[in-house]
Amino acid sequence: MPRAAIGVDLGGSHVLAAVVDEGGEIHAKFEREIEDRAPAAVVDALAEVVRSAVAATRYDVVGIGIGSPGNVDPASGTIRFSPNFGWTDVPLGARVRDAFPKYQVFVANDARCATLGEYVHGVGRGTRDFVLLTLGTGIGGGIVVNGAVALGFQVGAGEIGHHQIRPDGGFICGCGKVGCFEAQASGTGLLRHAFRVAPSFPRSMLLDPPPVKDKDKVGDDARTWRDRLGSKRIRKAAQAGDAHALAAWNAFCDDLALGLANVIAFVNPEVIALGGGVSSGGDFLLDRVKPLVEVRTTMVPRGTTRIVRATLGNDAGAVGAATAAMRGGLVAQLPAAVPA
Ligand SMILES: [Zn+2]
Repeated sequence: MPRAAIGVDLGGSHVLAAVVDEGGEIHAKFEREIEDRAPAAVVDALAEVVRSAVAATRYDVVGIGIGSPGNVDPASGTIRFSPNFGWTDVPLGARVRDAFPKYQVFVANDARCATLGEYVHGVGRGTRDFVLLTLGTGIGGGIVVNGAVALGFQVGAGEIGHHQIRPDGGFICGCGKVGCFEAQASGTGLLRHAFRVAPSFPRSMLLDPPPVKDKDKVGDDARTWRDRLGSKRIRKAAQAGDAHALAAWNAFCDDLALGLANVIAFVNPEVIALGGGVSSGGDFLLDRVKPLVEVRTTMVPRGTTRIVRATLGNDAGAVGAATAAMRGGLVAQLPAAVPA
């Protein structure tokens, strides 16, 4: 019977479980909202979608992989801390093992799981040195060095979003520092740039609430529509040539390029893959950013780092988590077969 694993993508507001085969293909997906962030309630929600996924497949399920926000002890699967959930030392792996004693359970940071997924089954295939950056509400990332996912001494490697690029006059980051890469160059960062340059465009309607029909769709809370639609609206307006949006876009691209050049200096990857909502700008983003990265690249031959769009989209986390479950950890490259 073909083998599969259940890949779980655990977020602050939803949890998804997918049946993923050895080729990284998703066969079924089950998703539900998380209303209560207490550990027991989250485990119940997670167990429900995993149960649905297990029931939906005829494949031989070999394990359950979970990508969770926060700093995760890879041996035990304990969430040491997770600002998204407000958790400290939550034994998530142990709780899920209690619920599914038949299966191997592996837990790792969600962005590291997405990195493994994109490396093994996406645009990172065939490289040895690879970086994934997901530009969404924040910047999630992960680093593959010489064919292995970098975890670091205290499992904190890959937190690229929290290196400071604008400590003077930058935006305040969720982590408390000023001018983190994530604060400047995520989707939220793009929105903040639009607000910052707004006084120079007094007649711009870019940041006005959307028309009533759109507003109904996303709720009346001004913050909600800005969070959900803000960065996409600004990117589309920039593509259409709106002066206010272009000013924000250009400032955003400068900051993104600054961080990418730093990543090249630290890691010298062969490929940097950009995922998340902002990356759907495609060539409009890449054509602007690549030359800006080049001029800031000084110690690596220019033009040698390929900056591309990630290919797995929102599935990267679940695919990577399942891959980790099948491989017994965040194993990026399998050992070469020993000739008989
Ligand atoms: Zn930060």
